[in-house]
Amino acid sequence: MKTNILEVLVCPICKNKFDIDLQNNKLICKLDSIDFYIEDNIPILLKPEDCFMKN
Ligand SMILES: [Zn+2]
Repeated sequence: MKTNILEVLVCPICKNKFDIDLQNNKLICKLDSIDFYIEDNIPILLKPEDCFMKN
């Protein structure tokens, strides 16, 4: 059940659901081309300027 919290999260920018990349511990917003990292099952939803990576 460790993906529960991830499944209900939405992108703070566009409010769409993330794609979950469990292999790389990332949440991916395809609309914004932004990845958010997950640490210890807690997604790091900081301001995009602080943590995002453009694909
Ligand atoms: Zn988004």
